[in-house]
Amino acid sequence: MLDINKIRADFPILSQKVNGKPLVYFDNGATSQKPQVVIDAISKYYQEINANIHRGVHTLSQLATDAYEISRGKIQKHINAEFAHEVLFTSGTTHGINLVTNGFASILKEGDEILVSALEHHSNIVPWQMLCEKTGAVLRVIPMNQEGELIMEEYDKLLSSKTKIVTVNHISNALGTVNPIKYMIDKAHAVGAAILIDGAQAVPHLKPDVQELDCDFYVFSGHKICGPTGTGILYGKEAWLNKLPPYQGGGEMIKEVSFEKTTYAELPHKFEAGTPNVAGGIVLGTAIDYMNEVGFDNIQQQEKELLEYGTKRLLEIEGLKIFGTAKEKTSVISFNIEGIHPYDIGTIVDKLGIAVRTGHHCAQPIMTFYDIPGTIRASFAFYNTTEEIDMMVAAIKRAQMMLS
Ligand SMILES: *Cc1c(COP(=O)(O)O)cnc(C)c1O
Repeated sequence: MLDINKIRADFPILSQKVNGKPLVYFDNGATSQKPQVVIDAISKYYQEINANIHRGVHTLSQLATDAYEISRGKIQKHINAEFAHEVLFTSGTTHGINLVTNGFASILKEGDEILVSALEHHSNIVPWQMLCEKTGAVLRVIPMNQEGELIMEEYDKLLSSKTKIVTVNHISNALGTVNPIKYMIDKAHAVGAAILIDGAQAVPHLKPDVQELDCDFYVFSGHKICGPTGTGILYGKEAWLNKLPPYQGGGEMIKEVSFEKTTYAELPHKFEAGTPNVAGGIVLGTAIDYMNEVGFDNIQQQEKELLEYGTKRLLEIEGLKIFGTAKEKTSVISFNIEGIHPYDIGTIVDKLGIAVRTGHHCAQPIMTFYDIPGTIRASFAFYNTTEEIDMMVAAIKRAQMMLS
């Protein structure tokens, strides 16, 4: 079991007051808070070893390079990638997806098909649409049901020899649905298609095993797992990363440059042009160490309790409807209250210190599916408590009284 008070003490922001009220932070789906070890590691990097990496022979440059590569190794181990060079540092999930779609522009032909799920974040829709515009490939959508689950019979029907790549999130940011990705990966491979998993909402809750999953690409952001903003990971199978062309040209990604011909560096450097976010990459490793120290079993246990308790308490509110009632779901509750705009609730509860997200959660097609303008989303992390849920429920009831 987690010692929740000890955990909360690791996060200085959680003891702050917002609008004169104790902060209740339930916007973890948008970004997580940072523990003191992560905050300290950033300043320690700049105080002690700041230098550019992979370039100088001088001591600081070597220390920074070593720390950066040690962090890559930690992440490799964490997601169980076969090789460290299959782990690319990016600025986040969005960057990782764009790197892949850019690479597929040289692979896809007119009439090829890309399958995208109805549950995607805009950053896993728009880059694929741009890729379709460039190549003449066709985007097809795996539909969802009222519970917010993808319909696997429809997925099976959409797959064909025309399918070149499938893209789906591991867990939906808007509804919390956990998708049956192992099934989807195996089915995609059976027709010879590649598959990308958007793990942005999964890595805060579980440890993915990319070899066991056998996915071709797995992307996530550092800032949602207690790490710094502007960090992320693209895992790609070696064979795919060798096949895809570089994303950006510049320093660090080359072997030799002349005006006649340039040759590219080996993996992972081929995809890491320019000076990267050195501090961020190193400290992402610190964040992953922290999460592992807390322990994913503990994290899941705490979040399961929060999901169950939060669902029960919220459903006590008259006129409240939860969107996303999948059998497999993480600690995200999206809901609306009859007759009241989600934005109005969000604004009032913010005055009471409660941070929830309102709007379309970068997933407008899901809102269109339910024919609603948006939802209120409470997304819980392992450092949240049932007492905080009580505070949120009281605040919502107060807002409801004021607005009706
Ligand atoms: C947050 C999120 C993204 C985008 O992540 P960025 O850090 O903004 O690049 C993509 N997909 C899902 C499921 C997300 O939750």
